Amino acid sequence: MQLARVFRNFFLGKNQYINSRPEFKRVLLTGYLALLCVVANWTYMIVIDGPSFPNFFLNSLFCFIGILTMLLVRLGKYTIAKLLIFTGAYSIIYVFCSIEPFQTGVSIYFVVCSIGALALFGYEQRHMAFIFAIIGAILFCLAYLTPFSLIPRTQTYTDEYIYANFILNFIVSLIASVLILLFMTDVNRYSEKTLEKKEAEAQERNKELTKLNTELDRFVYSVSHDLRSPLATITGIVNIGKYAENLDEAKKYFSMIENRLKAQDFFIREIIDFYRNSRTEINYESVRLFEEVQSIVNEHTYNENQNTIDYQVSIPHDIQFKTDKIRLRSVLTNLIGNAVKYHDLSKMEKFIRVAASRNNGHIEITVEDNGQGIGEEHLKKIFDMFYRASTDSKGSGLGLFIARETATKLGGKISVESILGEGTKFLLTVPAEVN
Ligand code: ADP
Repeated sequence: MQLARVFRNFFLGKNQYINSRPEFKRVLLTGYLALLCVVANWTYMIVIDGPSFPNFFLNSLFCFIGILTMLLVRLGKYTIAKLLIFTGAYSIIYVFCSIEPFQTGVSIYFVVCSIGALALFGYEQRHMAFIFAIIGAILFCLAYLTPFSLIPRTQTYTDEYIYANFILNFIVSLIASVLILLFMTDVNRYSEKTLEKKEAEAQERNKELTKLNTELDRFVYSVSHDLRSPLATITGIVNIGKYAENLDEAKKYFSMIENRLKAQDFFIREIIDFYRNSRTEINYESVRLFEEVQSIVNEHTYNENQNTIDYQVSIPHDIQFKTDKIRLRSVLTNLIGNAVKYHDLSKMEKFIRVAASRNNGHIEITVEDNGQGIGEEHLKKIFDMFYRASTDSKGSGLGLFIARETATKLGGKISVESILGEGTKFLLTVPAEVN
């Protein structure tokens, strides 16, 4: 791995970055093949050819082409680099084929280069690879099947020369082929992995969409049901109320209608909260927690005439942090509202305690009551959409679902502890970005 990095830096420099992985691999392969050209031609010069003409000249020329290709890669001129190395390679292979006996096996490079061209130009530029393959075939025929030769075939070659050349040609073409195939399998493996990852992502998204769809179906069904049922009740009350015999009786019916309308209004506000939470962006602003909680508590004491409940707010006045005020308020209103709704009328001393503290970059807020409590079997489900923990629940079962979604959107969470008949304690944790 370390060696691969050294080569990568050598071919591309440290600052060059190629976005597409297959293209990156192709460019690297161009570099490797160019380096192989340089090394192989030096080996030919030193081991076999020596300073003889034209071999020495041809080997030097190909070394130069290899170095120039590496330079072009380093400068980011990838297409010119690829064209150069193949044009150079085909020309020099052709010249060697036309002057050397076929037993040296130099023609094998036409095959290696044709496969290399396909690998380097890739599927998108495959026409270039085909052009090079055809050129290779034409040059092969020109060299071996016609008497024509660029350089006159005057030289004679010893058996040792042919033998050594054959061995070297075999070794170099083997290395080049392995390099090219390695590249192809690597790109292939990468594509397979990417495909598998994409497939897994698509499946995950599919699951989420199915879940959302089911939720939406339930939502639409329950919302339409819950929106219509108070209307039926109100129509019923109006039908009876029409025949009220005196003002007191009529007032009783009006007050019943008012209660239903309030519940209806509350439910619609919950739906708006739900919609707002899922659609609108978070809007951070500074919140003074004590004041916020106190104002929610005040709303409840005035609105609900719950003056028999002892509200205890023990929040340090200096807790001030940045969060989405409207969302935080919506969660707290829900938790405090539930504590009010589900208090235990039979208890002499009813309390609702809201406390808060800082903990590890978070604000922990507890809303505790000594109300009806929740049975253990319901505890895990009370945050589900439309879940009511008891038959005489006074709401739609949406409140805690929205509260949890909203807390999650704030980067926080809600948990609950409760004992049936004794009371309930909700813990809301939200991140605190201190002012
Ligand atoms: P709802 O609109 O019915 O109040 P929520 O989602 O707010 O719906 O609450 C789900 C259920 O959890 C309620 O129906 C109620 O039975 C139970 N619950 C919530 N908060 C409390 C609490 N503080 N004390 C007792 N029961 C509670």
